[in-house]
Amino acid sequence: MRPLIWLRSDLRTDDNTALSHATHSATRGAIALFIIAPGEWKAHDYAPARIDLMLRTLAELSRELEKLNIPLLIRTAPATAEVPGLVEKICREHECDVVFFNREYEVNESRRDAQVTELLRSKGRPVSAWDDQSVVAPGSLRTGEGRYYTIFTPYKKTWIKHVTEMGGITSVPAPNRQPQIALAPDPVPTVVPGFETPESISSRWPAGGPHALKRLATFIAQRGDDYKARRDFPATDGTSALSPYLAIGAISPRRCITAAATANTRGSKSPFDSGSEGLITWISEVIWREFYIHITVGFPRVCMHRAFQPATESVQWHNQPRHFEAWCQGRTGVPIVDAGMRQLLTTGWMHNRVRMITAMYFSKNLFLNWRDGERFFMKNLVDGFLASNNGGWQWSASTGTDAAPYFRIFNPVSQSERFDPSSDYIRTYVPELRSLSSDAIHAPWTLPPLALARLDYPAPLVDLSSSRQAAIEAFRVIKQG
Ligand code: FAD
Repeated sequence: MRPLIWLRSDLRTDDNTALSHATHSATRGAIALFIIAPGEWKAHDYAPARIDLMLRTLAELSRELEKLNIPLLIRTAPATAEVPGLVEKICREHECDVVFFNREYEVNESRRDAQVTELLRSKGRPVSAWDDQSVVAPGSLRTGEGRYYTIFTPYKKTWIKHVTEMGGITSVPAPNRQPQIALAPDPVPTVVPGFETPESISSRWPAGGPHALKRLATFIAQRGDDYKARRDFPATDGTSALSPYLAIGAISPRRCITAAATANTRGSKSPFDSGSEGLITWISEVIWREFYIHITVGFPRVCMHRAFQPATESVQWHNQPRHFEAWCQGRTGVPIVDAGMRQLLTTGWMHNRVRMITAMYFSKNLFLNWRDGERFFMKNLVDGFLASNNGGWQWSASTGTDAAPYFRIFNPVSQSERFDPSSDYIRTYVPELRSLSSDAIHAPWTLPPLALARLDYPAPLVDLSSSRQAAIEAFRVIKQG
């Protein structure tokens, strides 16, 4: 048997379920395939930074696969409709009798995989599909009534119970080295037209599975125990910055949670929810990722720009292109919001606390349609991941599962004072405010007009207090209706 291993968002040799199973069942060697899909990537609003990280990771992966005698073929499918025919052609040309892949759960990806499966089966070639994107397969945990969980806390409790009953988390065996076959790997392109990335962003994100594993080990050893205390302060290096690697599958979530649970030697009852506060809080964040993946499977409408809470479809969002543009450029006049947006534009990433602040300011104070903010994030994030991005946006806009209650709206100024007390974060990304005192920098509009006029910094787009009241009122009407 010669498997074709179709790699997609699982770009690693370590702890890769489909790759492991394929190589252990192969008898005549194995071939790997990656499809460059610019049409699909554009449709999904993937950021150039994300594609750049993917391509550099693929180049590393190709070298690792070569050591296992598995050539990585690279093909291009400008449109998704071409994918089934392409996969079938490669099977025919290279005498592959079965196709292995790890499932992707978004609506378009699921449809694509169903079409590939149907075509291959009609040609007598089976497909071997695996759940690998999350530790617990989405949809497998249900409430007592068999429903999908829609609230995080009970989902997490069941998740921990399930994993504990399974005896913990087991990674898959390393892939087998294959006999050599007469097929050379394809060169991996360094850039795909339409996804050019500035070097200043690219160089921030070293590529490859081994790098991601090293980043995980360093984070757990040096910052894991302090995570709970430090994770909300964007000026500090308190989080793992592993999200870009999880998004493209350069590291497995099993490795992440196992590393934290193993280090949590103080976990007297369960390493997932007792012991080191830092480590169990971090594990909980990785379970949020699992929860949002589970939501995309149970409620596929969230993949199609629809609100999780149907009643909120009737919200009359403002149509204010000038406000939208100012937010995108980090020129809203609210320093913490502008710092976050500029961090996104210059690094491809934004700190979680600031993602919440910028998204809530967008959807509540500016009262702009969260879908446009979600799309802008996706177009710029190196870690763009539909399940988490949509989950985060719908949480902030109070339209999602487990969403922020509509009347609890962050005040960006008090958030800024609380989580950027030294104002180092604002000073880093909004240099025109560097000269201001730590008191004035969070709300420069409180300065005397002359001092304000000397700064090259815009006045706030909206009044924070009245815009907040208006949002509460708009949501109250909908909730009551
Ligand atoms: P850490 O704090 O080290 O957490 C470890 C891992 O847990 C992360 O890498 C991530 O995979 C997961 N995680 C952490 N927080 C969350 C969360 N709130 N929801 C889901 N998973 C989480 N995350 C993405 O991976 N891609 C996105 O496109 C994305 N968009 C977001 C948009 C908004 C509006 C909000 C509020 C959050 C979004 N998040 C997204 C979640 C979160 O902000 C990032 O995962 C986190 O900032 C990544 O940094 P880190 O790797 O240092 O996280």
